[in-house]
Amino acid sequence: MKVPFFRHNLDENYASSVAQVLRSEYLTTGGVCRSVEDMLRRYFSVEEACLTNSWSNAMFASLLALDVGPGDEVILPAMTFVACANVVELTGARPVFVDVDTDTLLVDFEAIVRAITDRTRVVMPVQLYGQMCDMATLRNIVKRIRDDIVLIEDCAHSFESSYAGERPGKHSDIAIFSFYATKNITCGEGGAVITNDRSLMGKIRPALSHGVSAFAVDRFAEGIYRHWDVAHLGTKGNLPDLLAALLPRQIERVDEFRYVRLQHAKHYRSRLDPRLRFAHVSPQCVSAEHLFPIHVPAPCRDAFLVTLNKEGVGATINYRSIHRLTYYKKKYAIEDSELPVSSEWGDGEITLPLYLSLSPRQLDYVIETVNRIVKEFIG
Ligand SMILES: *Cc1c(COP(=O)(O)O)cnc(C)c1O
Repeated sequence: MKVPFFRHNLDENYASSVAQVLRSEYLTTGGVCRSVEDMLRRYFSVEEACLTNSWSNAMFASLLALDVGPGDEVILPAMTFVACANVVELTGARPVFVDVDTDTLLVDFEAIVRAITDRTRVVMPVQLYGQMCDMATLRNIVKRIRDDIVLIEDCAHSFESSYAGERPGKHSDIAIFSFYATKNITCGEGGAVITNDRSLMGKIRPALSHGVSAFAVDRFAEGIYRHWDVAHLGTKGNLPDLLAALLPRQIERVDEFRYVRLQHAKHYRSRLDPRLRFAHVSPQCVSAEHLFPIHVPAPCRDAFLVTLNKEGVGATINYRSIHRLTYYKKKYAIEDSELPVSSEWGDGEITLPLYLSLSPRQLDYVIETVNRIVKEFIG
């Protein structure tokens, strides 16, 4: 049997939404994006939302808007996707890696406190695998040390998550989402940034459009040419309507879809060999169940993964600790002993398939195959 790592859930019904954009005047950022941004404002109860062509560009534009650059530091967990650190590097600021909690694999608050210096401009918690950390507490801890440190929440995995009933963006200054091909909500490539800070969004929007004062659709609004100017540097990060058209149906049904993912995840948790290590979801947290990670002893991880792949199970790794990747190792030479939990988790992690269209037979096949390999490798 073959169980691919991921299958999207976008069927022919989405074609009509795209066709509608083809009949409109502009293919790029316009009315469709505006109406999706309204949906996001309502869903997250925030003042401002802006669609972007990726999480990475949303984060880059946010850092540019905050004037983060050389000499500044951004604190982030080492157990996350490399984009988080790359974007910081691109601004010239220094990513400061901290360790994660052994049970939840979410960023360790005490490690953040220890890492804060006079140069810290941003703290970036990552809502890993669909879980959420206690943002209200983190905000209190960080802002008590220095009120001007900006909290940017990486919500690439956690669109539909909540902690103590509160959604992303409630306690952070900025929250950023990804609609990349394998994320819970996807338009192939895409993202969004939300905030309650109007003046900050007033800087982020131009930073998503070369630093130019307004998006094309607004510049030509009156049919009369107006000069534009660039006062601050920007990237190119706006989302075209053509892709935004894929989002409304998914956003409308996201909580219904989350329930299906949750049933799959529960099935895994109850039937997989209990000798495997799992990520612990805190009882306060409603997880988006974006990824289903398991952890096996490090020496057999790679062979375990290859065997799974050979048996037709599309498993992957999310993630190896960032400090181990060649660029970061060469530049910062961080010892594993400084990031023990992230190092160890990253050496034994394997991600199993988890998506809406997984059939009960496919789920059972993954479980039987994993459990069989556990017996083979672990005894
Ligand atoms: C996917 C992902 C990103 C990057 O998202 P893009 O939209 O591909 O730029 C950032 N952080 C995490 C945790 C991710 O999983």
